[in-house]
Amino acid sequence: MALHVYNSLSRQKELFVPLHEGHVHMYVCGPTVYNDAHLGHGKTYVNFDVIVRYLRYLGYKVLYVQNITDVGHLLDSGEDRIIQGARRERMHPMQLAEMYTRRYFRDMDRLNVLRPDISPRASGHIPEMIDWIQMLIEKGYAYEVNGSVYFSVAKFKDYGKLSGRRLEELRAGARVEVLEEKRDPADFALWKKADPAHIMQWTSPWGRGYPGWHIECTVMSIKYLGQPFDIHGGGVENKFPHHECEIAQAEAATGKPFARYWLHNGMLMIRGEEMHKSLGNFITLEQAFERWDPMVIRFFILQGHYRSPLDVTDEALDAAGRGLQRLLGTVRTVRRRLASAAEGEAAPQVLEILEEGRRRFEESMDDDFGTPEAIAALFEMTREVNTWLNAERAPSKGSLQAIDDLYRRLAGDVLGVLPEKLEEEMGAGLATKLIQLLVDTRSKLRQAKQWELADTIRDELAELGIQLQDGPEGTTWTLL
Ligand SMILES: [Zn+2]
Repeated sequence: MALHVYNSLSRQKELFVPLHEGHVHMYVCGPTVYNDAHLGHGKTYVNFDVIVRYLRYLGYKVLYVQNITDVGHLLDSGEDRIIQGARRERMHPMQLAEMYTRRYFRDMDRLNVLRPDISPRASGHIPEMIDWIQMLIEKGYAYEVNGSVYFSVAKFKDYGKLSGRRLEELRAGARVEVLEEKRDPADFALWKKADPAHIMQWTSPWGRGYPGWHIECTVMSIKYLGQPFDIHGGGVENKFPHHECEIAQAEAATGKPFARYWLHNGMLMIRGEEMHKSLGNFITLEQAFERWDPMVIRFFILQGHYRSPLDVTDEALDAAGRGLQRLLGTVRTVRRRLASAAEGEAAPQVLEILEEGRRRFEESMDDDFGTPEAIAALFEMTREVNTWLNAERAPSKGSLQAIDDLYRRLAGDVLGVLPEKLEEEMGAGLATKLIQLLVDTRSKLRQAKQWELADTIRDELAELGIQLQDGPEGTTWTLL
């Protein structure tokens, strides 16, 4: 089966065919850097990280862009989030944005989320946004009032095609207090006039001001990925109005389609409730890492499907931790035995188990990145590998290597839950060298006919589970 993805735009699963063979251009809405990242961000960016990783596993060259919003994302009160944060922390807005950008990447690194190829900052793309807004005004899709510019949604006939919302509903739901200057209550801001005291403002053809949040994503995605590009991702809570507005701005200006596949991930819930500061259930990633290993959080997130909501409970996370240990335990055993295994080809029985595991894993991932089923396939494979390992007294290097390789690819490269080096292993290299040192020392003692001391070394190694075998080629050892 080839890769199929659920496209929010068509509301169905579709065969994934990129615009340019072998290449995938992908954009995901990034964080607004005015606060620490929370568990919900963890879910979103782990979800899209695995999508990028799997596309790369399939052989695509992926160009992954994820913006940093450092201006223009307003609170419900109309205040810019960055400015609110800057006031709270008594910092310059750019200092605040820089600090939280660094903290965001630090948290994502701990979750083993690969960094995007490009992380464009909104504040660094103001001239491009002004150009785009001007293009919209020239084509009649936007208008200026009192130094602000609005997009006229009634002019764009496809408005609502992603979210399925109708213009009448939007007008009814629009807030009244900021609407006086808009021609239609459903219109949205492309550029906002700044009052003189506003710290973040730029010169534009309409006076001093700052861009709206939606225009950032349209302009930065197209700048780096072209139009159209393959995949646009983001949280389902941003489908409307944010993504709907991104489409309107992009397609109205050029007449070309914007993104070909829209992928939305489900929200994270805390014990069945949405996470909100006001509910007191707001958990930053930093706080979560004090309680759980970041890899356990990552594994927990992947045990749910990216499109589904995910409910966080202590019990579920603890269970995920035990599950991950089961997988890692097998990898640890394999690597430990690999250190002392005899040369030899992989056993056909092992190759069969691995082939079946790989096939089931890929089949699950090909079905709209089905990580829960892919993990189930890994567990099933792990059970069979364990059974085989228990029955085999001296598995060959080839067999153990083949097992380790497949875990590295599926659990490591794709799911990102297998660290490059497992803790115990870090000492394993040294342990192997120390054993060899004792074995060599014993051989020298035997050559010097110091039998008693040589036998003591052999016996004490045997007590540690290390068995020596003297042969014409010298002494070999195995770990029982
Ligand atoms: Zn966006």
